[in-house]
Amino acid sequence: MSRPDTVRNVIIIGSGPAGYTAAVYAARANLEPLVFEGAVTAGGALMNTTEVENFPGFKDGIMGPDLMDGMRAQAERFGAELVTDDVTAVDLSGEIKTVTDGEGTVHRARSVVLAMGSAYRELGLPREKELSGHGVSWCATCDGFFFRDQDIAVVGGGDSAIEEATFLTKFARTVTIIHRRDALRASKIMADRAHANDKIRFAWNSEVAEIHGEGKLSGVTLRDTVTGETRDLEITGLFVAIGHDPRNELLTAAADGAGRVGLDDAGYVLVDGRSTRTNVPGVFACGDLVDHTYRQAITAAGSGCAAALDAEHYLAALE
Ligand code: FAD
Repeated sequence: MSRPDTVRNVIIIGSGPAGYTAAVYAARANLEPLVFEGAVTAGGALMNTTEVENFPGFKDGIMGPDLMDGMRAQAERFGAELVTDDVTAVDLSGEIKTVTDGEGTVHRARSVVLAMGSAYRELGLPREKELSGHGVSWCATCDGFFFRDQDIAVVGGGDSAIEEATFLTKFARTVTIIHRRDALRASKIMADRAHANDKIRFAWNSEVAEIHGEGKLSGVTLRDTVTGETRDLEITGLFVAIGHDPRNELLTAAADGAGRVGLDDAGYVLVDGRSTRTNVPGVFACGDLVDHTYRQAITAAGSGCAAALDAEHYLAALE
């Protein structure tokens, strides 16, 4: 039972691999962490996927939700207190931070670990969510391996879309890049590499109008952004690479001043060097919320560990 009247050592916001790993470490260090898991998406991004084959220790792979249940149970075993609720506001200024939950209860702590992750941008089409993990994916590194010798597509025209498409040619028979314009936005070197790759095709001036498949993706309907004409493309994989946004709403809503956590131009939390320390004393950030580059469960877990250790050192220095 959470005790709003006491000042906790550490409150962790977020329950993906970063938040749960921070919870395991903080709990084992006797810091009795309070973890806000989020009301709807407790367990984080991997709750929306099927098989995870690249998390070390599971030689036959593991289902995303099973991996997260395991992390959750491990955090609980060492005494982390888990609350399936959103944090709606924070005040991170001063030595005692406050965190307000979805019911309006204010919790206090000497340190806070931010692990809210990032959200992949979606196309916003009807079958998209249902076929996520069944042909529709947001992560080539995670899922490319499942598409050996298949015809697949990548939506997007920026650097990360081109990088994903190029990477996917290691597995797929063909990769069609679906782009709304008639030229790539990606840097010249990336674009040249894509043009030179004979597995890559381009659907210029095209957007995905419909996603098809019963239980498994079977194709998409493309709409020409100039003429409005439609055509079908048979594919078994659709990688959506139109960007992602760090979940920093709590931080951007906070008042200006000493408790305002520094963000970079893209909205990711800035940390000090290889540490997880933010510009606000006692506030640490980890996982995809700080990570432009790697965005993997294992890297998120690693930085969650670092955040708990950084918080532990910070608290020890207060004594
Ligand atoms: P997340 O997992 O995003 O967790 C963030 C948590 O913060 C969520 O639980 C959310 O509810 C919570 N939260 C946010 N705001 C609040 C708030 N205000 N109050 C309370 N809680 C809040 N990686 C791999 O290594 N292998 C894979 O096979 C793989 N497959 C993937 C498949 C899909 C479909 C997706 C989307 C991603 C995949 N990834 C994979 C990437 C991996 O899931 C992420 O890198 C990882 O989950 C990031 O962990 P995180 O803890 O930083 O954030």
